[in-house]
Amino acid sequence: MSQKPHLNLVVIGHVDHGKSTTMGHLLYLLGQVDERKLREIEEEAKKLGKETWKWAWILDRFKEERERGLTIDLAFLKFETRKYFFTLIDAPGHRDFIKNMITGASQADCALLIVSAKTGEYEAGISAAGQTREHIFLAKTMGINQIVVGINKMDEVNWSKERYEEVKAGISKLLRMIGYKVEKIPFVPISGFLGDNLIEKSKNMPWYDGPTLVEALDTFEVPPRPIDKPLRIPIQDVYTIKGVGTVPVGRVETGVLRVGDKVIFMPPKKVGEVKSIETHHQRIEKAVPGDNIGFNVKGISKADLRRGDVAGHPDNPPTVVDEFVGRIIVLYHPTAIATGYTPVLHVHTATVPVRFAEILKKIDPRTGATVEEKPAYIKQGDAALIKFKPLKPVVLEKYSDFPELGRFAIRDSGRTIAAGTVVELKKYEVK
Ligand code: GDP
Repeated sequence: MSQKPHLNLVVIGHVDHGKSTTMGHLLYLLGQVDERKLREIEEEAKKLGKETWKWAWILDRFKEERERGLTIDLAFLKFETRKYFFTLIDAPGHRDFIKNMITGASQADCALLIVSAKTGEYEAGISAAGQTREHIFLAKTMGINQIVVGINKMDEVNWSKERYEEVKAGISKLLRMIGYKVEKIPFVPISGFLGDNLIEKSKNMPWYDGPTLVEALDTFEVPPRPIDKPLRIPIQDVYTIKGVGTVPVGRVETGVLRVGDKVIFMPPKKVGEVKSIETHHQRIEKAVPGDNIGFNVKGISKADLRRGDVAGHPDNPPTVVDEFVGRIIVLYHPTAIATGYTPVLHVHTATVPVRFAEILKKIDPRTGATVEEKPAYIKQGDAALIKFKPLKPVVLEKYSDFPELGRFAIRDSGRTIAAGTVVELKKYEVK
């Protein structure tokens, strides 16, 4: 495995703005895809009359192959830049992307936002229901503080500096409003399709003197890793592997896991012993925050565990709750939200129905100051403190203790309704 520092990257942006194309092409230019495989994909694309999709297909192909060939599929792609070893969280571009972004984004250290400059596409992305807007909101709520912006499809706008400046100004305004320090964010004009400014300076845009996309990714910084905190590993999947046994898979959020440790899984309250730990198919003796791992646990069967459970050490088990207070921002709702509304809570890898038990107050999103006590309802754009009741006990933590397990999204019928953080919680004793 690479000795370079490691970062988890999520790619965000409106559908069809070129996330898959840009990443597929970038992976190719970085030497992750061999010529033969590319030619194979090109042939296939030509046959189907869909040559413009070849770069996006590279990502799909990667995913498929892993699903077919390997026992432990972490559903991640990796690539290296000069400075870093990146894990690309979730292959973007498929239908469930926004849903995956919620669970994926809570694991990301940094984000690449792809915005199409093409006439009409940029405008659709930043409209009230646009995903450019939605994803920026989510990224911030999920604690992703570092962003690079790729302004894509510059070939479609005649490589125009004016259009670049227009899109940059609009996105800057949005980012600033949501709380990002815009001065530090690189805005790179690219063509994900043709390859301009991905790893080599484009001859088509001599007016641009900033970094290429890959240079911009190297301006990210490694966030401090919370190794001194109690252990928390939200489980993404559980496998039974022949000759090995039960292997939960997840990312260490806080603390350190060592071979030989006793671990407890909550809410099921099952205890086992760690026999081995693997990351990217290499055995390791200990795992630290940021590591995506599969770990073999003795004394537990696959049927005991499920996605959304959280592993910790028995002397400081993950907190299970059946009630909590969340501070939320309503990103989208067609009418108004009142007490009794029961959408779905997404927190780390868990999903569970949750009831709006009480609207405690409407607040100012920037300062947190009270705007209205106990309002009858809240609407799109409002920030509020809500008492939530998950319909089943679920592991979560206060945002101030464990940011990684204290941020959540609320979804309903395939739309993200709200994003928020846990400010208070009521412990639930598992019998
Ligand atoms: P995603 O949904 O954001 O992952 O978008 P895709 O990568 O699937 O791209 C959507 C469409 O835009 C495809 O037809 C691509 O070929 C096209 N596309 C992506 N990047 C570019 C670009 O830089 N220039 C042009 N002209 N088309 C692009």
